[in-house]
Amino acid sequence: MADRKLTPNELVALDRAHVWHPFTQHKEWNEVEPLVIASAQGCQLVDIRGNRYLDGVSSLWVGVHGHGHPHVDAAIRAQLSRMAHSTFLGLTHEPGVHLAKALVDRAPAPLNRVFYSESGSSAVEVALKMAYQAQQQRGNTRRTRFAALNEAYHGDTLGAVSVGGIDLFHAVYKPLLFDTVRLPCPAFRENEADLAQAAIEILEAHKDEIAAIVVEPLVQGAAGMRMHSPKYLDPVLQAAQEFGALVIIDEVATGFGRTGTLFATEQLSTKPDFLCIGKGLTNGTMALSATLATEAVFEDFMGDPDQTFFHGHTYTGNPLACAAGLACLEVFDQEDTLAGLPAKASRLSNRLEALAELPWVHEVRQTSMMVGIEIRQASGEAFRPGLRTGKRICEAARLEGVVMRPLGDTLILMPPLSMHPNDLERLVRATRAAIMATLRG
Ligand SMILES: *Cc1c(COP(=O)(O)O)cnc(C)c1O
Repeated sequence: MADRKLTPNELVALDRAHVWHPFTQHKEWNEVEPLVIASAQGCQLVDIRGNRYLDGVSSLWVGVHGHGHPHVDAAIRAQLSRMAHSTFLGLTHEPGVHLAKALVDRAPAPLNRVFYSESGSSAVEVALKMAYQAQQQRGNTRRTRFAALNEAYHGDTLGAVSVGGIDLFHAVYKPLLFDTVRLPCPAFRENEADLAQAAIEILEAHKDEIAAIVVEPLVQGAAGMRMHSPKYLDPVLQAAQEFGALVIIDEVATGFGRTGTLFATEQLSTKPDFLCIGKGLTNGTMALSATLATEAVFEDFMGDPDQTFFHGHTYTGNPLACAAGLACLEVFDQEDTLAGLPAKASRLSNRLEALAELPWVHEVRQTSMMVGIEIRQASGEAFRPGLRTGKRICEAARLEGVVMRPLGDTLILMPPLSMHPNDLERLVRATRAAIMATLRG
């Protein structure tokens, strides 16, 4: 153990010697001075040298009410004083029960059962396995495939990768994956009726073999904030259900107010069979996700021992995490978070309109508090990926006091829902300055 506090340079040296970061090309990591974040409060991050930054991506989409929210933190401390962990296999506990009830009360009907895990990827794996097993137990033994949208992202474990469709992340693993039926999907609310029709024809061609369809509703986040409306999604999902497939909605990114409603599914008329949630569930405090299912699906698993859902993780239903999740939901009520969103989203879109006039801003896509700003050359052509334009703009944004992370050359703004309108404006101003500083040549 270090017996004195390390200097920032020593810490970075040790990081470079021993740490392997997610989604990080370490050759580049060694070329740029990394930020060492030491503390966070509200919508601000503070680095080890004392510099302050606006948290422009909610610490990778998890923060809803801001860092260090007193109600959520107090719930974790109170739970810690009673019990940090007790297994959910064969036993139960108060936080796990209370959170399940609170989620079911707020989730779209007819979801009625909650299965916990620790990451969004696991929540998707659970839904895929449940849907497949439910179909098998209903006697639909030929239903062994899944349908998913082009450019989908459902996580990084192999089942989630199999239904994912982002080649840059996933191409190398292709030999390990199961074969998914791919459906066309709008990039930004264009040709929705035509693409829905094309998707439905593909579903029909495979209608006896599909166990379930899995979708990110309204916003495909990791694809670079690709957006569609219910006019595309509802007909596709309803056709899938008519053909006998179950519907899995992955709200790991869109859940907890991001699209203006607690769940984006509330804006659809389709009734889901499964809902996957994660990221915002504990306000970025504890690793927790959940798969919600209908009572009808649950009933398919009632019976002989071999009809059991044989899946669980050591930390399934961790009490500290469940207490945090419950408190995070309570804050939505206490602060009336959703009611404040339309005004914030329109303040954001006002400022983004001016940004869209910059020659390098190809498109600004926004659904409430999810924003993608696609950067291209002034000619309209994409920059060469090797130029790392998006990454360089985000590095420039740090000098403007903002932490953000791009997806390719699409800049992502995903501020905490609690961000003050003045800070939302600052976020857009800093983004503009960073684009100018990087591209003005
Ligand atoms: C982030 C994300 C996941 C994966 O969640 P992890 O917690 O990173 O495993 C799955 N689906 C969507 C839509 C996501 O945005």
